[in-house]
Amino acid sequence: MSDPTRPPGPKIISVANQKGGVGKTTTTINLAAALVELGHRVLVVDLDPQGNASTGFGIEMDDRERTTYDLLLEDVALQDVILATDIEDLAIIPATVDLSSADIELISNEKRSFLLHDALRQTDMDAYEFDFILIDCPPSLNLLTVNAMIASHSILVPLQSEFFALEGLSQLMLTIREVRQTGNPNLRIEGVVLTMHDARNNLSQQVEQDARENLGDIVFKTRIPRNVRVSEAPSFAVPVLAYDSTSKGAIAYRDLAKELVANNAAVGA
Ligand code: ADP
Ligand code: MG
Repeated sequence: MSDPTRPPGPKIISVANQKGGVGKTTTTINLAAALVELGHRVLVVDLDPQGNASTGFGIEMDDRERTTYDLLLEDVALQDVILATDIEDLAIIPATVDLSSADIELISNEKRSFLLHDALRQTDMDAYEFDFILIDCPPSLNLLTVNAMIASHSILVPLQSEFFALEGLSQLMLTIREVRQTGNPNLRIEGVVLTMHDARNNLSQQVEQDARENLGDIVFKTRIPRNVRVSEAPSFAVPVLAYDSTSKGAIAYRDLAKELVANNAAVGA
């Protein structure tokens, strides 16, 4: 990861799609775990008031004393909001439902779109201990998501293999274009990943064909299959890689991590 145009420090990736239930949180959790398996140190930022990423890593409500909300709106220092998880080299900034009011509270803040950017680049910055920061975005294109996009080097878009999957993408791409114009000119698309894919299903095949035709190279070769082990893992508060290491879901997320790392090495990012 030696891009001369990028200062030293972690590669920051937002996992975003304004549609709910497309696999953002699942991808954040399992990609993070897979990157750790490859030897990287990863910080997950839970930017969704639903706090599903925090729950997925087993962070109890009682332990969410300082959260993404405090980082953004209470000037709490970065090192004071980062929590260790049960997985070595994997840390999280947890979220609670408090974050649901942040979108409104941010509006009156002069630096409203840059708060996460600045928070992740504090000079006494523990974040430099990380190789990757993955931001789990809320299902909306609100100010929280704009904060994530301004703070990030790239966006990873989970695309659920279902009817109308591609329809929401134009709105997302428009927002990315606006963010490039207003504050983050170098924002890249890390890639689009097909989630909940079923290779035997005509609809899944059609979505894949449309995505590859319309979006070309930015679609990851790796597809994440629909796999019941993936959906069971959160109730055991672990990534599927830990819950069932040889499941199809675990294997796919490992492949995705390898592909992502290889892409980054190829472009020197
Ligand atoms: P989002 O964060 O975009 O709202 P989630 O990651 O929470 O989406 O996923 C929505 C639902 O789909 C969850 O119940 C999750 O367990 C399930 N799910 C996600 N990916 C898969 C998969 N590959 N196979 C089976 N279920 C999945
Ligand atoms: Mg989610």
